[in-house]
Amino acid sequence: MLSHLNPPQREAAKYLDGPCLVLAGAGSGKTRVITHKIAYMVKECGMEARNIAAITFTNKAAREMEERVGKLLEGGAAKGLTVCTFHALGVKIVRQEARLAGLKPQFSILDSSDVMQIVSDVMGSNDKSLTKSVQWTISGWKNALITPDEAVKLVKDEASELAAKLYPAYEKTLRAYQAVDFDDLIALPVRLFDEHPEALERWQNRLRYLLIDEYQDTNGAQYKLLRQISGVRGAFTAVGDDDQAIYAWRGADVKNLYALQTDYPKLKLIKLEQNYRSSNRILNAANTLIANNEKLFEKKLWSEHGLGDAISIVAAHTPEQEAELVAMKISTHRFEHRTHFSDYAILYRGNHQARLFEQQLRNHKIPYVMSGGQSFFERAEIKDITCYLRLLLNGDDDLAFIRAITTPRRGIGAGTLEALGNYAGARQISLFAAAFEEGATEHVAARQLEGVREFGNFINNLEYRAQREPAGRVLEDLLRAIGYEAHLFEHCEQREAESKWSNVRDFVEWLSKKGEEDSKNLLELAQTVALISMLDKGDEERDAVQLATLHASKGLEFPHVFLVGVEEGMLPHQSSIEGDAIEEERRLMYVGVTRAQRTLTISHCERRKSGKEVRTVEPSRFIAELGDGLKHSGGKKAEPVSQEDALAKLAKLQAMFAPKTGS
Ligand code: ATP
Ligand code: MG
Repeated sequence: MLSHLNPPQREAAKYLDGPCLVLAGAGSGKTRVITHKIAYMVKECGMEARNIAAITFTNKAAREMEERVGKLLEGGAAKGLTVCTFHALGVKIVRQEARLAGLKPQFSILDSSDVMQIVSDVMGSNDKSLTKSVQWTISGWKNALITPDEAVKLVKDEASELAAKLYPAYEKTLRAYQAVDFDDLIALPVRLFDEHPEALERWQNRLRYLLIDEYQDTNGAQYKLLRQISGVRGAFTAVGDDDQAIYAWRGADVKNLYALQTDYPKLKLIKLEQNYRSSNRILNAANTLIANNEKLFEKKLWSEHGLGDAISIVAAHTPEQEAELVAMKISTHRFEHRTHFSDYAILYRGNHQARLFEQQLRNHKIPYVMSGGQSFFERAEIKDITCYLRLLLNGDDDLAFIRAITTPRRGIGAGTLEALGNYAGARQISLFAAAFEEGATEHVAARQLEGVREFGNFINNLEYRAQREPAGRVLEDLLRAIGYEAHLFEHCEQREAESKWSNVRDFVEWLSKKGEEDSKNLLELAQTVALISMLDKGDEERDAVQLATLHASKGLEFPHVFLVGVEEGMLPHQSSIEGDAIEEERRLMYVGVTRAQRTLTISHCERRKSGKEVRTVEPSRFIAELGDGLKHSGGKKAEPVSQEDALAKLAKLQAMFAPKTGS
């Protein structure tokens, strides 16, 4: 079982006497330790898979891990194993312990746009940046397990004063809607376990061993949850790399990595030093780069892979040209080396950089998948549908109620909803419940109320069916009944409507398939939809180039990586330069560099538009920090020639290969 591990990896896999931390650089097989350790515990130590939980950073990583463990443990021995993100674990806990948390089991999970809506409602203002700042601050408090009462004492400026003032109302609204935000998915279980030791004991008995990947990016609340469940025994293995901590902006705190040593004096610390992913050129560049950060843990990495190709640094005139160069390079390289599209990844700092690359990949007929972009589920058309699902699940979800009853329009106007809202508010019940109360007739016009009740009955009927019939069928009927396709074509331009409708079709098919695979009904599926991001949606196993933000690329590896837009102001990001947060940006660069197995191409532009003006930009300081072993190309003089060359070469290669690959 453990013969495919090196000695320190094996030591980590076998160590079960207490808490264990594997601290090692990128590509050293930390994630591999987790999968093998699970297999070892089940196969060699007679533990039951259902008593083990592995926590990953993304849903995609969870699926990959589940698959790997499934392969190591044939014969269904992996059945019952929990592999999920901290948030998904939180959902399981809150759902099972809903009563103790003061929620019904069908609570709604709100995404960031709903949360913004609520903040803006309680604030009574539409100011976007103010809403965002309040939401950020509240979220930060929740991640640090700070209650509204405690927050008041932490006020340090006007912005935090406003946030502290709105925090209680925000929480009250969430509970009134029987809804939770993402931060609650961790904070609620933690509080619940604090207040109800018997519930904690239930979960400790159920999850006897925890394994946590990407530990450096856990936040305070997640760390507390880990401590609670793993109990006094400290029954866990955490693996991480402080050089890859890149989520401080979202409340993650690498201090949790150091805290393990003080909180668990018996902590077994294991370091891995052999890298199995990258060529030595790439590894050396990564090591040289990260040596510029201050360090608490010394790490060395070496690789048995040869020296490998020089890292290629490409200077492009403009972002458009950069995107075209990358697309062409992928085309030619693929022809020359007979690789797959999926061997390539294009990684960038911010989502907005993706668009030009998408265009150029399309121009070159290169298939691609994108992750870490705007969440598929936050698109308007998908949210229209998910609001119906949320309402099926939880009639108290007023946000979903309002969106569903008005999309498509069914003659129920703002006036009616306001009257109903006032009545519901006075009675402290949801809009849905209010509509069916006798007293509502005194506040809402009869004909209008009839319309609302008709809608309510429609939802009730769907809910009844959702519990009994396949998810796909109920969804299809729902779409038909509300005339959603016609609604799209009525309100959008032809092309836009087509694209939106195709997204909805995608969504329906995906949910139907998921319903069949996991044998879940529509209500069960509905609750987890909010947890899933585009990162997971783009998971079709197509042969396609991967487009991803650096943040979303964590833990992944690709034979050929293009790191694009590596300029001062982009990476490091302008705000980090100003905010003196260069070290986190350097770690981001380190994550990018260490995704590459065989070749790494780093590109930057000489000019870039910022607002209305076009500015000259400098290559990122991080390029100079990669040491030697770089090969520069492009730039002002060399560029036109190399572009023509590349085109000519591509044409020649395409001609050569066309007859053979055309079949
Ligand atoms: P990251 O920090 O980027 O998450 P990691 O430390 O989790 O990296 P893995 O993804 O587990 O590293 O491993 C990197 C690659 O090396 C994988 O392809 C893995 O299969 C391979 N690998 C790890 N350990 C071994 C080993 N002992 N023998 C052969 N291959 C290995
Ligand atoms: Mg990993």
